[in-house]
Amino acid sequence: MMPSLDPRPSDRLYDKVRHAIPAIEWPAFADDIDAIMDLKRARNAVILAHNYQTPEIFHCVADIVGDSLALAREATQVEADVIVVAGVHFMAETAKLLNPSKTVLIPDRDAGCSLADSITPADVRLLRQRYPGVPVVTYVNTSAAVKAESDICCTSGNAKAVIESLGVDRVIMLPDEYLARNIAAETSVRIITWTGHCEVHELFTAAEVRQLREDHPGVVVLAHPESPPDVLAEADFAGSTAAMSAYVASKRPPRLVLLTECSMSDNVAVQYPDLDFIRPCNLCPHMKRITLANIHRALQTLQPQVSIDDTVAARARLAVERMLAVR
Ligand code: SF4
Repeated sequence: MMPSLDPRPSDRLYDKVRHAIPAIEWPAFADDIDAIMDLKRARNAVILAHNYQTPEIFHCVADIVGDSLALAREATQVEADVIVVAGVHFMAETAKLLNPSKTVLIPDRDAGCSLADSITPADVRLLRQRYPGVPVVTYVNTSAAVKAESDICCTSGNAKAVIESLGVDRVIMLPDEYLARNIAAETSVRIITWTGHCEVHELFTAAEVRQLREDHPGVVVLAHPESPPDVLAEADFAGSTAAMSAYVASKRPPRLVLLTECSMSDNVAVQYPDLDFIRPCNLCPHMKRITLANIHRALQTLQPQVSIDDTVAARARLAVERMLAVR
């Protein structure tokens, strides 16, 4: 890049992401980044970004980054007036549940999730009728209305701890079938599940893992528990995106593959340019609806705002707060 006489914040930031973003693409991002930085100050706003956001969002404008659990925990600590969620709609709802008095923005209201769309509040009520007295554990990848029908929430990072904290021998765990089956393999608690799937992680196959090992000798395979159980059986490590990051930080495998959404590898690779990341790319179309341009617009207009019916919010908040109390 040509040195600027009048450096802008974006000039400094390019160094962080030069391994992930070609120099020729950077000018297309720089104006939005500078404008977002100014607007964050003017609005007293913070940006929460999920691990699946692209590097120019994750590394350049986000204030808090992480997986669903980390974002939910951090959302309870936010002091700003405005929270922008660079993630999907259920994450913005969770931020609103935990910060009812703040303005919570989701830059694209249509940023959904195949898991959240797989189940309705009526489905949960029917399951309760079918299994009276069995507690309902709901993955955070659900609408606030579904959380409101639940006893407690969980994430892929704390699902086992949440289930075992209930002290029962059977739970209903919704809506991710594969996460439920993968957790069932680790606990003696019996799990009744639903048939929701993540459209990104369900695409990985055990045959693909074997092919990766053949094509890239010595590769260490990290898989996400939203993937089918036979994929996890072929992997060297299984865990949430936060657990994957921690594994890379501590073990530093020279050659590795993260079987999860593509931007996760891009974001972790920015921190470890010396490691060889193999990158099969399964992209989440919902996460990719969030861009610098629509974050910029959301901060300018303070729209679209997330709102949740008060009664639903009160019940859903309880389920999230119960989860956050589990350590
Ligand atoms: S990656 Fe899967 S679980 Fe995450 S938002 Fe996309 S569809 Fe939902």
